[in-house]
Amino acid sequence: MDEKRKISLERADELHEEIEDFLEFKEEFLRETAEIRDVLSKKHKEELINYFDATEEDWNDWHWQLRHRISSVSLLSKFIKLTDKQYKMFEEISKKFRWATTPYYLSLMDYEDMNYPINLMALPTEAENDKSGELDPMSEEYTNPAPCITRRYPNRLIINVTSSCAMFCRHCQRRRRIGECDRIESEENINAAVEYIKNTKEIRDVLITGGDPLMLPDEMLESIIKQVRAIPHVEIIRIGSRLPVTMPQRITDDLCNMLKKYHPLFMNVQFNHPGELTEDAVAACEKIVNAGIPMGNQMVFLKGINNDKYIVQLLNEGLLKARVRPYYIFHPKQVLGTKHFEITVEEGLKIMKYLRGHTSGLAIPQYILNAPHGLGKIPLLPQYIQESDEEHVKLFTWEGKEVEIVY
Ligand code: SF4
Repeated sequence: MDEKRKISLERADELHEEIEDFLEFKEEFLRETAEIRDVLSKKHKEELINYFDATEEDWNDWHWQLRHRISSVSLLSKFIKLTDKQYKMFEEISKKFRWATTPYYLSLMDYEDMNYPINLMALPTEAENDKSGELDPMSEEYTNPAPCITRRYPNRLIINVTSSCAMFCRHCQRRRRIGECDRIESEENINAAVEYIKNTKEIRDVLITGGDPLMLPDEMLESIIKQVRAIPHVEIIRIGSRLPVTMPQRITDDLCNMLKKYHPLFMNVQFNHPGELTEDAVAACEKIVNAGIPMGNQMVFLKGINNDKYIVQLLNEGLLKARVRPYYIFHPKQVLGTKHFEITVEEGLKIMKYLRGHTSGLAIPQYILNAPHGLGKIPLLPQYIQESDEEHVKLFTWEGKEVEIVY
């Protein structure tokens, strides 16, 4: 064997060692998913279908999913056994922060373990009583130059078309907007927003969001997209939705056929845990991508859910398989009632540092902290530059080895 091949093989062994722990973790996670989670969620689905005296066809109909949302403690307790203390706590939290889950998302939960990440994202916990944080840390109300509009950047803006969502995520950063009722913006407000965009020539990118814009009926959503698309200076339209995750039944052929008339159109979703990447959710993403709509994922770092390097790697690699590009990881904002999900920037950076080198660049999103008071996104990067001047730069590689480039 020649010397070069010998060195290459030694390096290959070193690299294999680097990934061994993750591979073990992945095997265990997938085994557990196949043996326990999949079996459990099928069982839960059957129970829910029987309870509501429904059919498979009903289950696959998003209107049925919405009509049968579980939003009362008494109904929830038919499926998950709650202690008296939990029952009372759920009722108490419900008075402060609304909660609801689709039957589909409930079927993914672990009925025995309230700390299972899917449960934590959907069901209230006592920690929501914590009084720290604000309802609007982004001061969105001060970046609202016209009805339904949020504008934080020179050439792009957001239209918030509804306050309704299929499920009320416990970590929601927009609790303020979705808190009280399901309210679709009035035609008058939408028209005023469209007028603002028409009159603001520098706006080239419009994000339609909410709440969740896919909660609107197809015709209403189409009417908004059509008006925005007709504005000559709007180059791209983006939709922000979590429905492919919490109610994938919403992604119908009719919806995709409608959306694909308005290219260039992009969609960003929010998967936070690999347990959300179910067959149904992946199939929903496939439909969207097959309609020519590039998809990106905007994960939020959440303690107890994804503040783990292997979970993030597994999620991002799973997303790529579903043809969804991991786009952003958001640092959690200090929103009232969500303190228990917060992590430190240091912890987030450690995970980002691990990802580099251990997975492909496509599976490494940008880590972003949204500055308070609507001051915009701040990218957070692990430190790779050790020192730099006009003559040289000293850097660290992904393995922490030092390299120097002399100019
Ligand atoms: S889908 Fe988005 S806006 Fe709606 S509750 Fe969840 S995080 Fe909040």
